[in-house]
Amino acid sequence: MPEKSKVSENNIRKVHIHTYGCQMNEYDSETMAGLLENSGYHLTDNLQEAGVILLNTCYVREKVKHRIYSRLGELKKLKEEKPELILGLSGCLVQKEPEEVLQRAPYLDFILGTSNFYQLPEVLGQLFGDGVRGTKAESSSHPTIVRAEEDRAIPEGMPKLRKRRFSAFVSVMRGCNNFCSYCNVPYARGREVSRPCKDILREIEELAQKGYKEITLLGQNVNSYGKGEKEKIDFADLLVLVNQIEKLRRIRFTTSHPKDLSDKLINKMAQLDKVCEHLHLPVQSGSNKILSRMKRNYTREHYQNLVDKLRQAIPEIALTTDIIVGFPGEKEKDFQDTLELVETVGFDGAFTFCYSPLKGTEAAQLEERIPEETSGQRLRRLIELQQTILLKKNESLVGENFEVMVEGISKKSPHAVEGRTRGNKIIIFRGGRNLIGEFTSVEVVEAGCWALKGKIGSC
Ligand code: SAM
Ligand code: SF4
Repeated sequence: MPEKSKVSENNIRKVHIHTYGCQMNEYDSETMAGLLENSGYHLTDNLQEAGVILLNTCYVREKVKHRIYSRLGELKKLKEEKPELILGLSGCLVQKEPEEVLQRAPYLDFILGTSNFYQLPEVLGQLFGDGVRGTKAESSSHPTIVRAEEDRAIPEGMPKLRKRRFSAFVSVMRGCNNFCSYCNVPYARGREVSRPCKDILREIEELAQKGYKEITLLGQNVNSYGKGEKEKIDFADLLVLVNQIEKLRRIRFTTSHPKDLSDKLINKMAQLDKVCEHLHLPVQSGSNKILSRMKRNYTREHYQNLVDKLRQAIPEIALTTDIIVGFPGEKEKDFQDTLELVETVGFDGAFTFCYSPLKGTEAAQLEERIPEETSGQRLRRLIELQQTILLKKNESLVGENFEVMVEGISKKSPHAVEGRTRGNKIIIFRGGRNLIGEFTSVEVVEAGCWALKGKIGSC
């Protein structure tokens, strides 16, 4: 048995939050951190000194779930050494499979659903015996379970402890109505709920006043912002309003669904000076048969047509995508269609995945599963092709000047900084801390796949 030790009195209200997954989860973690600070807790990066450890989970593929359970196994040992340590889990895995979570990790002190994350201070108050009222805990016994109710609106105006100083995430909507056959999100995050426009604008105005220069609007499908809401404001209208906010320099957004990307939005993207020339437009597959089995509701031709329209309206636009290989029924011919699409479009980046069957999703029932070995080989072929295309594209940028916003010191060298172009490319160039948060022109001198090298440029 490991020797037992105590969490020191000073550390008992120090909270360590580890976030898995997408930007939406990061945004929720920033809100939880802000709420905790307001309630007298302190955040810490140091796991060893924490009195509370929270994993804010994702469940987009089985692999992530395995990683989370393996992390929990390590934390269980830490809890055996320090029995007062409070351990909690929030996010998509909890929302989707609360019973399995509690069965596999009965030592957890609390779990929180995706629409209840903001109740964290109340739950901790209850666990610390602070007598905080108002928690919706289903049970007063161990562990505390606060599970989400479907389609629940999240309170507005909550404080946030942002990770970054000049660039911030702002959620415009939560949930998803699309039910792509492979995806967990609609089950884990519920149906679409758009935030009122005035609350989004207020949050961005406050950020701009605090010196934030770039914002990324977040939603699983931002293109359907406002649908079914009383306010008749769609995403293109929202962009027009955000573009008017003074001091803000750059607007990004993610994710766009190809079936909902309207001509109006493309035109606004072209007209609005702060909207960056980058679009993340997940295609998932280049085969119409597979797109139909994925329930994506568009064809390869529709996607290609969108790309043509986007490039006509915004010639310098950078396009990135998500692709799944090894989906049930994917024949070599279907995979070839994907490779061909990747070649024709010439993406500036692609997140590529092997299909992962997820319990409760429609695709998990489909026959004609692809052996892991075949999926793995296809993934490698796809990555190789994409890297070759990307390197060629990046090489064509050598000698050009780009405006970058400097994000921080380079991970590779303490004498260099990393900046991001409007097209979402990272350029590393010589410079110091004083440049962080500044905009500067940089000339590309060398191309790589993941980043470019540059020097302070001339315009
Ligand atoms: N809402 C976005 C969209 O419509 O594309 C994406 C959300 S999802 C969290 C991010 C990406 O994970 C998806 O675009 C897809 O490529 C991948 N993904 C989701 N479920 C998957 C699964 N079961 N197996 C493999 N990849 C998956
Ligand atoms: Fe998942 Fe499809 Fe919704 Fe994206 S649009 S979150 S892939 S269901």
